[in-house]
Amino acid sequence: MSARKVPVAGQQGQRDGVAARAAGPAWDYAPAPESRDIVTIAAEYGLFTDGEFGPAADGRQFPTINPATEEPLARVALAGQADVDRAVAAARAAYQRVWGPMPGAERAKYLYRIARILQERAREFAVLESLDNGKPIRESRDVDVPLAAAHFFYHAGWADKLEYAGLGQAPRPLGVAGQVIPWNFPLLMAAWKLAPALAAGNTCVLKPAETTPLTALLLAEVCQQAGLPPGVVNVLTGAGQAGAALVSHPGVDKVAFTGSTEVGKEISRAIAGTGKRLTLELGGKAANVVFDDAPVEQAVEGIVNGIFFNQGHVCCAGSRLLVQESVADIVVDRLKDRLATLRLGDPLDKNTDIGAINSREQLDKISELTAAGDAEGAQRWSPPCRLPEKGYWFPPTVFTGVSQSYRIAREEIFGPVLSVLTFRTPEEAVAKANNTPYGLSAGVWTEKGSRILWMAQRLRAGVVWANTYNRFDPASPFGGYRESGFGREGGRHGLAAYLDA
Ligand code: NDP
Repeated sequence: MSARKVPVAGQQGQRDGVAARAAGPAWDYAPAPESRDIVTIAAEYGLFTDGEFGPAADGRQFPTINPATEEPLARVALAGQADVDRAVAAARAAYQRVWGPMPGAERAKYLYRIARILQERAREFAVLESLDNGKPIRESRDVDVPLAAAHFFYHAGWADKLEYAGLGQAPRPLGVAGQVIPWNFPLLMAAWKLAPALAAGNTCVLKPAETTPLTALLLAEVCQQAGLPPGVVNVLTGAGQAGAALVSHPGVDKVAFTGSTEVGKEISRAIAGTGKRLTLELGGKAANVVFDDAPVEQAVEGIVNGIFFNQGHVCCAGSRLLVQESVADIVVDRLKDRLATLRLGDPLDKNTDIGAINSREQLDKISELTAAGDAEGAQRWSPPCRLPEKGYWFPPTVFTGVSQSYRIAREEIFGPVLSVLTFRTPEEAVAKANNTPYGLSAGVWTEKGSRILWMAQRLRAGVVWANTYNRFDPASPFGGYRESGFGREGGRHGLAAYLDA
């Protein structure tokens, strides 16, 4: 790593009266960009149906852009009803003729192959994900891509052992799975959906988010490369209408959705009474609870990871910090010191901590909610940081003086924005943590094991992390309660969602 001197006075972003940290020159990192030559982006991409790429039936396309620069990356086919019909028919035929009857041990070989190719092409996937999504290469390289491969490896192991999963003696696949995923972890969410479905013997039609179609299409190419029989995986790029057409298609037996609570409710209504199986992984407003006996530096790292990982575009983000009143000042001070060291900028730079906001729409939503925080009386703080002129950017932001009734304490912001609340007793911490319509995740920071267990029993959240945050493993079920949805992904519980036991 080399360093160069940059004048702090040249930095912008000294918001809300916060002074820059030092008056003199400061050391900064030299740029360390990952080369984008590893990935070849075509000018146009088709839909992946029945093992082939081809244009939408009506020839429509939409652009996908790099949110860090607003540069158009490619034009992508926009699926319509006819394309959904074609993809579902291909998935049905593949289910009946090939994939359903295939022994689990044979299916496993394909999943292993996909996992290995994902590893071999990891750099290509990481660069493409960062270009299309805006997330830092450090995260796509070290989190998204390895975890996606891990999901295929893990589920390959289950494919020939389903009768030993404790889900009945001869669990059977459901048929065709219609799967709709969001833009925050495009490749990883595709892996979370496809791997268990395929291991269980289902075939899939996947609809990636409109703003991040490219890694799902590269994964389709990997399916071709792995020799996966045509029709087993189909990828339909397009808008929300394509997702709606897919989930309501009569040829779909199982619907799996990750995204906003609002769309999750729409999907529930659309398929009610059809007999389709449904899992919904929706929004969250997780509490990250820090007790006075927690190791402060470690907790601060956990708070930063909890809300600033992936620009806060994380359904289980620890977006509400609940800190015990006696240590609130020191925790917030240390947090501010730490945030001042985060580097925001080029997602392809290996030193970048905070990348771009995924879309103009999402940036507008974050801006609107944070403005509501100001209006309701919370105190906003951001470290000095320079926002690039092009692209969609939002500085890491902390609100203190937040009341439970404020919108920033209740609504999912889905951005790099932390709301800080305080508590005095463990009972108050539980009451405040559970004061949300969501129930996806929570964090607890304390030295006492007994207190961790006491909290975990009382927090109404699908996942409770203790002295850590945002840890994922394919063997560990993930999912929520209440407005965060139902059903689990990962582990044996995740398999159950794709099997008729
Ligand atoms: P959506 O829930 O709208 O999008 C998720 C996926 O569903 C996308 O593929 C989308 O397609 C598709 N979709 C949209 N409408 C329908 C429909 N009626 N039927 C079936 N599929 C549909 O999330 P947004 O991207 O619009 O984000 C809005 C907010 O949702 C964010 O600000 C954030 O708060 C929250 N969110 C939460 C996520 C989570 O994991 N908890 C993930 C993403 C967003 P398309 O992309 O083409 O619109």
